[in-house]
Amino acid sequence: MTTEQRREAAVPAGGAHLTDEARSAVLERQCHRCAGCNAPLTAGSTHFDLRPPAICGGARTPGNLEALCPFCHQNFMRRVRVQLAGHRNK
Ligand SMILES: [Zn+2]
Repeated sequence: MTTEQRREAAVPAGGAHLTDEARSAVLERQCHRCAGCNAPLTAGSTHFDLRPPAICGGARTPGNLEALCPFCHQNFMRRVRVQLAGHRNK
């Protein structure tokens, strides 16, 4: 396996702390649907996020996890960035 292939197989940054167990627990809790728009989630298109996000002080526990579709994940990250920018301006 080349380095390139290994990088693609790896979990996305921010989800590296997630175990398979934690992922399936979250998916089961949400009935395999997106926490944002209720769209059915598939293994390849599921994003896991902490609420509140780790960069905002959220605890890295499965109870704080949410599974999101790629669309809601993008919206979520945008909101987080806006929030962080707001905090900095205070
Ligand atoms: Zn969604």
